[in-house]
Amino acid sequence: MSSIVDGLDLSPFGDDYWNGCEAQGRFPEEFWRHVSERRVPGLILSRESGGLGMGLRELCEAVMGIVSSGAGIGVYPLISNNLAGKVIESFGKDRHREFLRGLAEGRYLCGLAVTEEQAGSDPSGIGARARRSGSGYVIEGRKFLVANLIRATHYLVLCRTSEPEGGRWWKGLTLFLLDKSSPGVEFAVRPSLSMGHLPVGELVLKGCTVGEEDVIGEPGAGWVALSRALVADRIAYGAVGAGIAELALSRAIRWASSRRAFGRPIGANQGVQLPLAAISAKLSALKAYVLQVAERFDRGESVEVDAMAAKYLGAEVAMESVSTAMRVFAGHGFLKGTTVERLVREVWVLMAGPVTQEIALAYIAHRGLGLPSTL
Ligand SMILES: Cc1cc2nc3c(=O)[nH]c(=O)nc-3n(C[C@H](O)[C@H](O)[C@H](O)COP(=O)(O)OP(=O)(O)OC[C@H]3O[C@@H](n4cnc5c(N)ncnc54)[C@H](O)[C@@H]3O)c2cc1C
Repeated sequence: MSSIVDGLDLSPFGDDYWNGCEAQGRFPEEFWRHVSERRVPGLILSRESGGLGMGLRELCEAVMGIVSSGAGIGVYPLISNNLAGKVIESFGKDRHREFLRGLAEGRYLCGLAVTEEQAGSDPSGIGARARRSGSGYVIEGRKFLVANLIRATHYLVLCRTSEPEGGRWWKGLTLFLLDKSSPGVEFAVRPSLSMGHLPVGELVLKGCTVGEEDVIGEPGAGWVALSRALVADRIAYGAVGAGIAELALSRAIRWASSRRAFGRPIGANQGVQLPLAAISAKLSALKAYVLQVAERFDRGESVEVDAMAAKYLGAEVAMESVSTAMRVFAGHGFLKGTTVERLVREVWVLMAGPVTQEIALAYIAHRGLGLPSTL
């Protein structure tokens, strides 16, 4: 599908590679080096920032191709660096130029730390506080379900620096670029359903000092600095959903063609082939939609509702495809070391992140359909 992916040669990184990384809880270093040499972690960053100067559409094409080649959710650090880089490129300072180059070249890995134990779908409950101290800030708080905990070098951390104004919860939240090796930063991995190779857990900030120069955007306006990247993230998640759906479908077709029962391939039965054909039809529509929304995003259009729809549809089609593949593999799909077994666990990431399916629908109901807001 994508000339970017065609030029990447992903052949060393097939199912065995990704199943192995996930099973061993090992960051995919070889893959990361491979894509970093080609500056794919900076695909949407400008050439002045060391990136490839492409758009979200090209990033989504690359994501679909990489995910469906076997990576599954293993593509996550690539999305992370691209989107964090875009925020810093738009709202950072001159001193961040070297950092941007490092992101594009994969020397740095920057994650996003917004969620807290008491503030998931509802970020108005963010309790991490940054108070002014000398020429900088001191942060106290705990971020929760933060991904790439071991390998990430930096995080964009959202903290409250002043009380919300006029009932607007997002006012008074400030975004900081935090070096994970700074004094006062600790982290604790939490064993989880999947993503053991990109582990999630808590980022604990105890008296952690950040200079004023690492405030991204204006103090108190961190949500504004993040907002466009959050829209892009939802579209990119739609692309991940399409990639996972395609990966599950292709493995199911292969198995349906080779596995025999009652003297014929199981795929000769309509009970097996029709659900696969239905996924194929839905997947074609999903891909076209995600790429169209990404293209409109690149043109600067307001695509907030469509971005939520892309995220929602991506997760639904991925879930249906993985569940169908699991039926086709039946007992063989239960075995550790098979791609479908990994995908059954990975697909749940799309249901929760970056927003849940219910939050996506509630947003569409209000902003798209004009019904009362529940958010
Ligand atoms: C694998 C993984 C990686 C993640 N990585 C990161 C990361 O790197 N950085 C980061 O900041 N966060 C990350 N997250 C967190 C993610 O963004 C949150 O899990 C998500 O926003 C949902 O929050 P929650 O889990 O607290 O669910 P809750 O907010 O507790 O919601 C629980 C349930 O209530 C429903 N619900 C809540 N309000 C409403 C409503 N108004 N209408 C209908 N239903 C409602 C939800 O849909 C959900 O079903 C990650 C999560 C996962 C699972």
